[in-house]
Amino acid sequence: MDHHINPFEMAQRQFDEVADQLGLDAGVRAILRWPLREYAFRIPVRMDDGSLKVFQGFRVQHNDARGPAKGGIRWASYETMDTVRALATWMTWKCAVADIPLGGGKGGVVVDPATLSVTEKERICRGWVDQMWKNIGPRMDVPAPDVGSNAQMMGWMMDEYSKLVGQYTPGVITGKPAGGGGSLGRTEATGFGVIYTTREAFKHLGIDPKGKLAAVHGFGNVAQYATIGFTELLGGLVVCVACWDRNDKCSYTFTKMDGVDPHFLKSITDQYGTIDKEKAKAAGYLIEDGQAWLSKDVDVLIPAAIEGVLTGETAGLISPRVKIIAEGANGPTTPEADAVIKQRGIFDIPDFLANAGGVTCSYFEGVQNDMNFYWSKDEVLAKLDQKMTNAFWAVTDMSTKRNVYMRNAAYMVAIDRVVQAMKLRGWVW
Ligand code: GLU
Repeated sequence: MDHHINPFEMAQRQFDEVADQLGLDAGVRAILRWPLREYAFRIPVRMDDGSLKVFQGFRVQHNDARGPAKGGIRWASYETMDTVRALATWMTWKCAVADIPLGGGKGGVVVDPATLSVTEKERICRGWVDQMWKNIGPRMDVPAPDVGSNAQMMGWMMDEYSKLVGQYTPGVITGKPAGGGGSLGRTEATGFGVIYTTREAFKHLGIDPKGKLAAVHGFGNVAQYATIGFTELLGGLVVCVACWDRNDKCSYTFTKMDGVDPHFLKSITDQYGTIDKEKAKAAGYLIEDGQAWLSKDVDVLIPAAIEGVLTGETAGLISPRVKIIAEGANGPTTPEADAVIKQRGIFDIPDFLANAGGVTCSYFEGVQNDMNFYWSKDEVLAKLDQKMTNAFWAVTDMSTKRNVYMRNAAYMVAIDRVVQAMKLRGWVW
């Protein structure tokens, strides 16, 4: 990430542009430009060596007019109140665009999880819930995984909450392990959702995806399943994936022009998305610098790691062959990069549309928790495909009708739905 970029300013700039285009009322703007509620708190934790460490935690509830706030908790050393505010804001638009009855929230813990033991992680998870349990809940705010967290951590957090309220409450958090209140398909959901929307984008552009090439940024959960999906659901080839190497503290691009093997790469990737260089090299992968993915001669770019990777500068490196950008990450494209992409006529599937598959499956998880009845994986993925396809066309139709860039069209669809809910509840008129 470019640390000069403030994601919350970026989120507000994107919103302001569309608010102007829509002629949005000043009061409505004032509600939507800022989160409704913000929590910053300290989590004291006993470390394995007996010392006491205090971690910074956050939770932001941007808007809950359409339903309980919803969104993950990110574990990252670079987390700040502003990154969490931005991500919470994007969650409001994401849930609205996916047309699920939830609002937007996000949380954070300032820590590099790779520096923690399993037991330390568990204590921070439980400590986070101990600080926040009065302000979260199945009908209030439902956290989930994000960068740096996993299903097991959600299981611990659900357990801590259930103990505090004295009742088994699986619906307090999603992304739980299957068999522990989780939904089948949740692991694949975000990455596959990116590919369902990419498939529809190909359809919209009248291009057959078979044999088309893609370059992927990131190799965590979202990127892994986007790579598998692009290869297996669309019949395309992913020619490279770029990932952060936590040992060398820099990024590398792993390239194979006749197509990477996503399952092999996944098998040599650690839980934080770092691919084993030596094993990749031995298998014939070319290892290039971390920015090489950006300028590859491909049809599709899939930034699926963190915010701020496509900037005014780096957007200039994109190959003329690129037709589609599918944003698996939250906030990968700055407004300066948007201007370049727009001018080049590249079809952009904006983040809160492309990556809405995760939260949509989380919504299904909550529904299954409420019913206490669980669907098969095929059932979950079929429902997910339907939701993602509907969301894609709602945005694309808006983009065509109003002749606006896809990101702005996605904002228009989302803002309209949130404002409707606020009106129905009498928050605005
Ligand atoms: N953290 C994911 C996102 O950014 C999923 C959120 C959720 O499942 O609530 O969309």
